[in-house]
Amino acid sequence: MSGNSEIDTLNAICKEAKAVGKLSGNNLTELYELFGSRFTKALDALKEGRVKKYTFNPSGRVVWIVVGRERDYLIMPEAEFCTCDDFYFRVLDKKVHMCYHLLTQKIAQNLCWFETFEENDECYGMLMNEWKKATP
Ligand SMILES: [Zn+2]
Repeated sequence: MSGNSEIDTLNAICKEAKAVGKLSGNNLTELYELFGSRFTKALDALKEGRVKKYTFNPSGRVVWIVVGRERDYLIMPEAEFCTCDDFYFRVLDKKVHMCYHLLTQKIAQNLCWFETFEENDECYGMLMNEWKKATP
């Protein structure tokens, strides 16, 4: 399966789920078939409320975080970018189109399953440095 159809199918499922406000049994099956263990991990993160959306004011910049087991992952959905090793080694290598953090973020955004935080722009640099730190 090519990367593009992976994204297209995910977008279609998200659109459907957004309209009804939940993932149907069918959606769950489709997502599992498409993403396998990546979807299982995404679902865990969603259930455990590990997705955070930070909005910086007054600039309105938005940064998404998925809290992982050992560290936090910074996600930039517009750029389809994530700070995890999985993204770095496999997504850039085109072996896997999307890491589970990006998958988690996409579902979270569509279903409004995330926590929101408002921060001052002055904290942006400090927080970004914290989130961009390499795996310990
Ligand atoms: Zn990732």
